[in-house]
Amino acid sequence: MKVAILGGGVAGSTLAYLLSRVNYDVTIFDISQNYIKPCGDIVPNVYSPPYNWPQTFRIKRFSFYIDGERIYDVEYNHTKWLVIDKWEWINKMRKYSKIKVTHDPVLKGFDYVIDSRGPYPMDRELVYTTRAIVETENFNDEAIIEFDTKYTGFYWIFPSKENEYNIGAGFLEYKDSKKLLYEYLKGKIGNFKIKDLRGAPISIGNVSNKRFRIGEARGLVFPLSGEGIRPSAISAEYAFEAIYKNKNFNEFLDEKLKIIEKRIKIQIILLNIYKHSSFNLRRTLMKLFFKNDILIDAYLEDKLDIDGIIESIKSVKQNGSITRKF
Ligand SMILES: Cc1cc2nc3c(=O)[nH]c(=O)nc-3n(C[C@H](O)[C@H](O)[C@H](O)COP(=O)(O)OP(=O)(O)OC[C@H]3O[C@@H](n4cnc5c(N)ncnc54)[C@H](O)[C@@H]3O)c2cc1C
Repeated sequence: MKVAILGGGVAGSTLAYLLSRVNYDVTIFDISQNYIKPCGDIVPNVYSPPYNWPQTFRIKRFSFYIDGERIYDVEYNHTKWLVIDKWEWINKMRKYSKIKVTHDPVLKGFDYVIDSRGPYPMDRELVYTTRAIVETENFNDEAIIEFDTKYTGFYWIFPSKENEYNIGAGFLEYKDSKKLLYEYLKGKIGNFKIKDLRGAPISIGNVSNKRFRIGEARGLVFPLSGEGIRPSAISAEYAFEAIYKNKNFNEFLDEKLKIIEKRIKIQIILLNIYKHSSFNLRRTLMKLFFKNDILIDAYLEDKLDIDGIIESIKSVKQNGSITRKF
């Protein structure tokens, strides 16, 4: 069986790795030999991928800011988020298959052609984000998420290893996220050295064509948090099962990804409500949301539906961890 995979990111490389393990003939077509796309590198600590990711930090403490004011902070007694070395993880998975570096792939003679080009089909609404890897002595182990209610989006400061932060910005109405990020860094961190600075888009809207697509190409990103690694890897696991067990690929994925796609849809609706609200209403809504332990718990794991919120109620009550994918 010959499989072509367009785009060797999270979804494409995970699928390629799984198929190569059962001796399928897999070719990844990518525009770059090594994976170099920027990311916050955060995954909720509730999912293990088929190929283990290297972890660089574990996050238990969070704080939320709205328009410069610290609204709430929370500390868990277990690791809520993992920070991973995503580049190393993906580049290691890529080594299991052939890679062709090209902008113009020849796709004849394949039994399957899977599109996992992330946001790059560019057929959806996007937010342009920039992230910096920053070295500083001024370090602590708390993750910060900061909203500026003039815009739709947020700044983040994630500890990525000792004395190093992953800091980023992405706002729907403000495409030059690099400029905003510089200003934010100067105001927030003071003394720092930038080790790496890159930008990339994140999908935040509906994708109409999902056929033979996995990962972000299929729209599998939570628009309120930007979380796309876990859903992309999960979609690759289902794509592998569909191909290996000779299922109807598109029907199988539609069925298996139902819960994730429903949760993404809910977030798209919430995002649209926020986008169309006045600045005052935005502030009020955000303050209510980020003072609620249960909603914060559901937000940090992207499970803002009834089942997810019930899970969060139990989790917050027991003060323990729940290890379920979604
Ligand atoms: C700045 C930033 C921060 C983020 N932070 C987080 C986070 O902390 N946690 C999280 O879960 N998610 C985060 N995300 C989202 C997450 O990175 C993506 O959703 C996830 O990587 C999607 O995986 P994917 O495999 O679908 O696509 P990608 O990882 O985007 O991979 C796409 C691949 O396609 C290749 N490609 C592009 N164009 C072509 C072409 N024409 N032909 C062939 N190949 C092509 C690219 O080179 C790349 O290798 C962030 C995104 C950004 C931009």
